[in-house]
Amino acid sequence: MYKNEIIPVLENGFSLENPWDGQVIIIGAGLAGLTAGYILGKSGIDYTILEASQVIGGRIRALEGFADFPVELGAEEIHGRKSAWYEIIQKQERAIISPEKYGQSLYNIEGKLLTLKEMESAELYEQVDKFTLYWEDYDEEDISVADYLNRLKVPQQYHHVLNAWYGNEYGTSNSRLGVLSMAQSDNKWSSGESNFTLKDASYMEVLKTAFKDVIPHIQFNSPVVMIDSSNELIEVDTKKGQHKAKKVIVTVPLSVLKAGDLAFIPPLDEEKQKAVDTIGIDTGMKILLKFKERIWPENTGSIYPGGKIPEFWVTGLGKDTQSHVLTGFINGENAEYLSSLGDQAVYVALHELDQVFGDRKATESFEDSYIIDWGKEPFIKGAYSYPSLNSEPERISLAEPIDDKVFFAGEATNAWGHPGTAHGALETGYRAVKELIESIELFG
Ligand SMILES: Cc1cc2nc3c(=O)[nH]c(=O)nc-3n(C[C@H](O)[C@H](O)[C@H](O)COP(=O)(O)OP(=O)(O)OC[C@H]3O[C@@H](n4cnc5c(N)ncnc54)[C@H](O)[C@@H]3O)c2cc1C
Repeated sequence: MYKNEIIPVLENGFSLENPWDGQVIIIGAGLAGLTAGYILGKSGIDYTILEASQVIGGRIRALEGFADFPVELGAEEIHGRKSAWYEIIQKQERAIISPEKYGQSLYNIEGKLLTLKEMESAELYEQVDKFTLYWEDYDEEDISVADYLNRLKVPQQYHHVLNAWYGNEYGTSNSRLGVLSMAQSDNKWSSGESNFTLKDASYMEVLKTAFKDVIPHIQFNSPVVMIDSSNELIEVDTKKGQHKAKKVIVTVPLSVLKAGDLAFIPPLDEEKQKAVDTIGIDTGMKILLKFKERIWPENTGSIYPGGKIPEFWVTGLGKDTQSHVLTGFINGENAEYLSSLGDQAVYVALHELDQVFGDRKATESFEDSYIIDWGKEPFIKGAYSYPSLNSEPERISLAEPIDDKVFFAGEATNAWGHPGTAHGALETGYRAVKELIESIELFG
């Protein structure tokens, strides 16, 4: 449990055997970069964060004013109680809720809207269990979940549900998700099974409170374009000028590395480049729909319509709210299609809900919409990394420091079983600083 290792360091920092007067530059002010800065500060080490955008948080962002509570555009759920992120939330005495306690899921199976119990009681569902109960034991050659479902002869009518539960949840589609890689990653999961959301606050409020001492160290609107580590002092170029430091921590999303937005001198070695190429990250979207009244049955939590939007969830469940908001959550192939439609994607979402609930209920009651398309965000360019075929061992290579000078953090570098999550990003910020401190102790 990394929590037990991280919490004391968040409180007291690392203690160095000999004082070190070097400067550290952190690239990116998402959860990984903020954590790294926070721990460096606590350890008495001077640092600057260069952030490309105008705000902290990266893939943590809240939309204010759309509903009568802030709606999460990025990270929303807290996965498990056994993480340092959960501890931070607890320390701030934030109320949390388990949305699944407030509503059940509804699945469109061949035109009928079924509860989980109803779906599970169908005879053919046994074939689904062959996957859901045993995929974690898979240890053969990595193949896609979609291929594996076909091999197990899982009936077609359940494929969209399994795509929502696995492919979409992991940030992609079943056709790109590797069963072996997913099992290898999941078998390392140690943060606990329950999922929570914040009752009265947003993720962003938690960030702003937890990392208030870090914010003065951030230079916003500073996209880094080049890192030259060929000399003793590393040169970091932004569009505005040059910075020099003894150590650098890179926390940009994997999608930004894939796009080649950061030039490395010397170039990334073969192993790291292979890791960048192999680990998957697709585009991802949330389509928020606000309605004049509730169009779904009471006590509904999620809706799986079986179209282009794998899952809608009732947003704000368990909160004190009068708003009627659904979030459509779309990753991978479906997101690529909907992204190509731009604002028109809203009509696809409404059409799918009309088909599920009938009587043009969604269209008639529709009031407002908001689309966040993470692939189109210039400094994010994707949703979150996922277990693509044969990718799990690559996370270690992605995290590997260059010459004890350039260190790597960010959710995709989490080889501890928590990639693609907020608490996983935090863990990598800690891990990168730990490596950096070890390199100081060894080499100065
Ligand atoms: C739609 C969606 C839903 C999610 N849901 C959940 C959830 O429910 N629960 C959960 O735990 N996790 C969830 N996640 C994942 C979670 O949000 C991320 O894993 C986490 O926030 C990533 O943090 P990070 O610090 O690694 O990266 P980021 O937050 O992406 O931070 C990287 C930072 O680097 C900056 N940057 C990029 N390029 C440059 C450059 N050239 N120079 C300087 N700065 C640069 C970016 O602007 C950004 O601020 C979700 C993510 C998305 C997109």
